[in-house]
Amino acid sequence: MNLFSNYKLSKEILMAIDKMGFEEPSPIQKASIPFILGKRDLIGQAQTGTGKTAAFGIPMIEMISKKPIIQGLVLTPTRELAIQVSEELRKIAAFKRLKILPIYGGQPIGRQIKALKMGIHIIIGTPGRVLDHLRRNTIHFKDIKYLVLDEADEMLDMGFIDDIKEIISKTPNDRQTLLFSATMPREIQKLAKQYLKKPKYIAINSGDLTKPSIEQIYYKVLDKYKLDSLCRIIDSHKVSLGIIFCRTKKSVNELTEALQARGYMADGIHGDLSQYQRNKVMRAFKEKSIEYLIATDVAARGIDIGDVSHVINYDIPQDPESYVHRIGRTGRADKKGVAITLVTPREIKQLRTIEKEIGSKITPNSLPTMEEIIN
Ligand code: ADP
Ligand code: MG
Repeated sequence: MNLFSNYKLSKEILMAIDKMGFEEPSPIQKASIPFILGKRDLIGQAQTGTGKTAAFGIPMIEMISKKPIIQGLVLTPTRELAIQVSEELRKIAAFKRLKILPIYGGQPIGRQIKALKMGIHIIIGTPGRVLDHLRRNTIHFKDIKYLVLDEADEMLDMGFIDDIKEIISKTPNDRQTLLFSATMPREIQKLAKQYLKKPKYIAINSGDLTKPSIEQIYYKVLDKYKLDSLCRIIDSHKVSLGIIFCRTKKSVNELTEALQARGYMADGIHGDLSQYQRNKVMRAFKEKSIEYLIATDVAARGIDIGDVSHVINYDIPQDPESYVHRIGRTGRADKKGVAITLVTPREIKQLRTIEKEIGSKITPNSLPTMEEIIN
């Protein structure tokens, strides 16, 4: 029996859940779906990869009527996430046949304006582009019943706070507001206080921020041998799909070229690439025609690709929150994952800070010898 049938959900939704292969609700879903169906505002905090999208998607799609007006708005930090969330919501709404449209920068606005006239029920958008439409009067939010701030910590990190406030001010006061976030810094708490009404606060697994399904290791490397060390590391691990993080766009480009020159199937993604280019790289990675995705933090936010076996921090993340977000790209939906961090001698202190903040240990490993790589 599918355990989702314990909720008061219509047949259309239950059929869709079944088709998606979800057999039982994840902890965040279990904790939040009844409150959302009960019309409560809600703050949901859980690690990446724990099913937050369906946690709001299932009850929202259940409650939205078939009347072709915009009733749901989901704000997400990046274009990739807008596409990804909209794909997941489309699956949930497959039998109910609601129209779901992602709206993000980098795509011709004319095409979006046309699409908006098709009787859309739910918009998933990045704050900048949504605001652009509001100012052009090509979108109206007066019938919004459900507002979701998804990956709220990342939206704030990216400087969207004023845009978000302006967008919220264009939605009705009697809306239901849901906020999801992997971490709960003070600014998020402030935002929630200002815009949510008596919210139910749900936190899952707040002690250890990282998932047990991720093995966390580090290698000590010297700056001048960093590239060689990386190659030795990836040759000795059985990487099926890997995301390699760099600090800057420039280093993404350089590392991508260096790996390609050494015969690795690698490609890079960062904010300076055109949307077309970014979509192309993401598609190639999903289809496994490239094995290594080289990315900046921003470009890889929230991306959900089921089979990422390894996350590699070529450059150590700047702060513990970024570490949690990065390694959350692997070990998704209870698959095993490995997170590898390259650490130069002067970065050891940074590594210790990360360990302390996330509350779990990162195990040292020694660089593989040539023999270990060949065998
Ligand atoms: P988060 O937003 O918390 O980072 P996502 O919503 O992107 O996580 O979900 C991560 C993955 O888990 C997705 O591929 C999603 O389809 C899958 N998933 C979500 N809920 C369930 C469930 N109840 N059973 C099985 N898989 C699920
Ligand atoms: Mg999410």
